[in-house]
Amino acid sequence: MGLLDNKVIIITGASRGIGKAIAQECVQQGAKVAFTYLSSEEKAKALEAELSNSGGTAKGFKSDASVFDEAQSLVDAVVEEFGTVDVLVNNAGITRDTLLMRMSEEQWDQVINTNLKSAFNLTKAVQRTMLKARSGSIINMSSVVGVKGNAGQANYAASKAGLIGFTKSVAQELGSRNIRCNAIAPGFIETEMTEALDQKVVQEWRNGIPLKRGGAPIDVANATVFLASDMSAYVTGQTIHVCGGMLM
Ligand code: NAP
Repeated sequence: MGLLDNKVIIITGASRGIGKAIAQECVQQGAKVAFTYLSSEEKAKALEAELSNSGGTAKGFKSDASVFDEAQSLVDAVVEEFGTVDVLVNNAGITRDTLLMRMSEEQWDQVINTNLKSAFNLTKAVQRTMLKARSGSIINMSSVVGVKGNAGQANYAASKAGLIGFTKSVAQELGSRNIRCNAIAPGFIETEMTEALDQKVVQEWRNGIPLKRGGAPIDVANATVFLASDMSAYVTGQTIHVCGGMLM
């Protein structure tokens, strides 16, 4: 028996990185997974095949989370395919790092729309289904950067801090209908992206973390499974830091 047996879960941005690990772990725990991607078609098809071949139920959807109408069409398609939506994981995110002095309006808008507006789009889209079911769990992928800020990431930090305020508000609005909303704030998570960085710098980052290592995508996936499952039935409006103690 899995922690998520037969729950229908939408995960945005799961073609790679943290989202992919969340999709893998949710299927492992018995969930039916609908995941999205924007441009990584081949990776998404490979993940769909991997999850299906492992005996799970999973389907990839090309859908831009930053576009309001696409979120609604996605949820309609998922309900048509799987009957309902029990859990929404707003994971899709991008960075466009630069100092404020050099930051263009486009770089600001891209990050806010992909990281923050997307959560509004998807939450609005699943709301009716979850209200009808009188049950649901919404999980927003924030960041420690949203809590403490970071030079060169004003757009990203604002989007991730915005997600925490959004999370608390949704938790207050929908709590009486048994719909929970929580955020996860990962610290430094090692993915394909960080493999390309200067390894000396990466080692210095690791040394500065109390647990003396970067996080793995599975560390974030485990926290997501907890918040998606009935194990967290009395947890709402919270931000769980998955950062090895980087931020206390
Ligand atoms: P990643 O490897 O860059 O993957 C991002 C995913 O989001 C991809 O699947 C990408 O799809 C998808 N995506 C991007 N724009 C999208 C859009 N408009 N609509 C739908 N999907 C879109 O990122 P990651 O490192 O796994 O991070 C995942 C989340 O965790 C992000 O919200 C990030 O801010 C947060 N986070 C990460 C870290 C870290 O250290 N890695 C730390 C704190 C927080 P395509 O492949 O098709 O482009």
